[in-house]
Amino acid sequence: MNRKTFIKSLAILPLTAAAMKLKELNKITESMSNTAKMPVLFLGHGSPMNAIEENEFVTGFRNIAKSIPKPNAILCISAHWETKGTFVTAMQNPTTIHDFGGFPKELFAVQYPAPGSPDLAKQTKSLITKTEVGLDEKWGLDHGAWSVIKHLYPNADIPVIQMSIDYSQNPQYHYELAQQIKSLREKGVLVIGSGNIVHNLGKVEWGRLNETFGYDWALEANDKMKKFIYDGNHKELINFRSQGKAFDLAIPTPEHYLPLLYSLALQDSNEEVKLFNDKAVAGALTMTSLKIG
Ligand code: ZN
Repeated sequence: MNRKTFIKSLAILPLTAAAMKLKELNKITESMSNTAKMPVLFLGHGSPMNAIEENEFVTGFRNIAKSIPKPNAILCISAHWETKGTFVTAMQNPTTIHDFGGFPKELFAVQYPAPGSPDLAKQTKSLITKTEVGLDEKWGLDHGAWSVIKHLYPNADIPVIQMSIDYSQNPQYHYELAQQIKSLREKGVLVIGSGNIVHNLGKVEWGRLNETFGYDWALEANDKMKKFIYDGNHKELINFRSQGKAFDLAIPTPEHYLPLLYSLALQDSNEEVKLFNDKAVAGALTMTSLKIG
């Protein structure tokens, strides 16, 4: 290679790399055509036993799936995947993770063999500029995802990816990060936040897990959260640590609450919210779930 050719190739190199990246991104985007805007869900998942029991909450999950178009893919933010940094699952075939103990063996036997979507993982990564999103090959689907998604789509025929929750970041950060994936709604992607807006395991009455009742503080926090949700007052929900004692009891740790902020961040100002499964169980949990759009 003479000097002139060498310089020429150096000049071409960055362009070629950029063009290749663009081509790659186009390929990913083409694989998911534009659709009418998908709704967004937040699901209160409650006890893992909801995966195998028949109850009113499971019926609520099934009914909500019937009310929305069949998605091309699902992106789930589960309370049960906390990491340092943000990751998306990028494997072709995520395993079903049984991330709990002390439950009957029937629950450990449940498999939810939905495929993954490496393409959606890459597209999600490319949309988020707030942080470098890692492509994860080790996680899978935890029970925050599969125990509810199995009721929505029992045939496991829709690809599912998960996005982790960075435990080192504050609520505002999570809300802003989630806003960056809003355009996925136009690609037929159903985004599901899975947690519980009132979730205090230290105060749960374990012997009454199947009973629908809530302590005063649980109902108070749940009602106040619902009002903020209906009013589109996301600011107060992001500032949940300034809402007083009922909120502090309802959210002793933030991981089950933060998926709500991920879902709300995708709401457009003109969009309505429909609540369902709005009941307390075992005193200190609420199953309150919502559909946006
Ligand atoms: Zn949970």
